[in-house]
Amino acid sequence: MKTTISRPRVAASGRKISPAQNGHGNGESSASRAGLKINPRLVEWLKKPKQNLIDGKWTPAASGKLFDVFNPADASVIARAPDSDKEDINRAVAAARRAFESGPWRAMTTSERGKLIWRIGDLILQNADELAELESLDNGKPRAVARVADIPLAADLFHYMAGWATKIEGNTIPISVPNFHAFTLREPVGVIGQIIPWNFPLLMAAWKLGPALTAGNCVVLKPAEQTPLSALRLGELLLEAGVPGGVVNIVTGFGETAGAALAAHDDVDKIAFTGSTEVGKIIVRASAGNLKKVSLELGGKSPNIIFKDVGDLNAAINGAANAIFFNHGQCCCAGSRLMIEREIFDDVVEGVATQARKIKLGPGLDATTQMGPLVSEEQLSRVSNYLHQGKQEGACYVTGGKRAGESGYFVQPTVIKDVKPGMSIVREEIFGPVVVAEPFTKVEELIPRANQTQYGLAAGVWTRDISKAHRIAAALKAGTVWINCYNVFDSALPFGGYKQSGWGREMGHEVLEHYTQTKAVVVGL
Ligand code: NAP
Ligand code: MG
Repeated sequence: MKTTISRPRVAASGRKISPAQNGHGNGESSASRAGLKINPRLVEWLKKPKQNLIDGKWTPAASGKLFDVFNPADASVIARAPDSDKEDINRAVAAARRAFESGPWRAMTTSERGKLIWRIGDLILQNADELAELESLDNGKPRAVARVADIPLAADLFHYMAGWATKIEGNTIPISVPNFHAFTLREPVGVIGQIIPWNFPLLMAAWKLGPALTAGNCVVLKPAEQTPLSALRLGELLLEAGVPGGVVNIVTGFGETAGAALAAHDDVDKIAFTGSTEVGKIIVRASAGNLKKVSLELGGKSPNIIFKDVGDLNAAINGAANAIFFNHGQCCCAGSRLMIEREIFDDVVEGVATQARKIKLGPGLDATTQMGPLVSEEQLSRVSNYLHQGKQEGACYVTGGKRAGESGYFVQPTVIKDVKPGMSIVREEIFGPVVVAEPFTKVEELIPRANQTQYGLAAGVWTRDISKAHRIAAALKAGTVWINCYNVFDSALPFGGYKQSGWGREMGHEVLEHYTQTKAVVVGL
């Protein structure tokens, strides 16, 4: 049975839609109440009214409406962003279409385009401290984590993609019809709609924009309503880097309005989406109208498998804890199903639980914080529902299992055992710091169980037996398999899902195939 969790949009979540004249929030008051310092420049930036980037200009929503943007550490309002709808999407798509068909973008040489994309990476690095702080305030993640992970990875993606701008090539094809010369061109797809989630707001924007721009497309990007701020700041950096007007349009708003209008738009050539499998299917249906191309990076319920011959058990325990607790479990590839060979089951479970108990929860801006809050009240209620269901279904909670504290959206890092395959906590993506541990005895039973999920995003295998490691990596139905490690990402490494975890790949040169189309040209000699 699929658990359906209603998505309280306005009233139930306490989220308010504000008229523009109500001004704006700022992060200073809530943070300073908690004794945390914010860079004064960021405070000033937060106070500035937030607008959409359309046709190279900052523009309020057509309706004039704004929605509140929250700091999830204390539920305070830090800013207000345009509550855009179909009209704003129409304007943004029209601007992207003009930029694609007739602007300076298409005339730019690939070398110039590559240099421009490189500059975006440089500007992200130059503003890394401020961006990390903004990401922490908006999403809740520790500032230090954003500073060493999200921000440099986002910069690196642009730097990596910049090099490809001059290397997207067609082929000459030796066709068997005499007296013809045939070759292929790889051309941009056109106007791309991109819809991204809130778990790595800037990084997801980079994963989407980097390859789209490298291949010469124009874009309308809709960030998640929970975390629109770093995308808007990135918009400023794009203009500073010299991205021509209309090439990247950034429109904030809700999925059901702005997102749906973008996915259904007849003048959008492709949608690239990251988020839940449920919404991924809605995107596919919405795209059918003009048969736009679709790429999807969706959910996961990734098995992380530890064998008794792992060698360094502590390294595997640390790896298993990191696999689930990194980013508060709000990772599509989180190692949320821990499968442990029976002889070491108790040791590993106790080891991961000990790590969980030691994690210091707190606001992302506090330097001592190791895990921040979940992103929103809605997400807190989703995860809490799963924790409640697991208890009702008879699972054993080794540690955690509840909300932490009264304010903010904190959840205790949780380790669960004594689970059965049919339980919702075993089958469904929880997207919180919650891992289920299951023992196994034989490899023959392990593989079908590991693959017994609608998802296929990632998996981990921990063993010193190199043959076994490779055999299992080959048998797992997952887009990424980590052996004796977890959560290792690189701009050069393709990432994406088998089965219902998605269509297509992000990163690597493979992603460029999803942002180009091939034209065959035949010349009669
Ligand atoms: P979601 O609804 O799939 O949101 C992802 C993006 O899609 C957001 O920008 C969202 O907009 C937009 N969206 C929502 N409904 C849409 C629609 N009908 N048409 C077009 N766009 C639409 O995810 P969520 O509600 O934030 O999180 C729910 C669950 O999704 C999580 O618990 C987790 O299981 C999963 N999730 C997975 C990933 C991943 O990386 N694979 C990331 C986030 C969440 P707004 O949010 O602005 O309304
Ligand atoms: Mg937020």
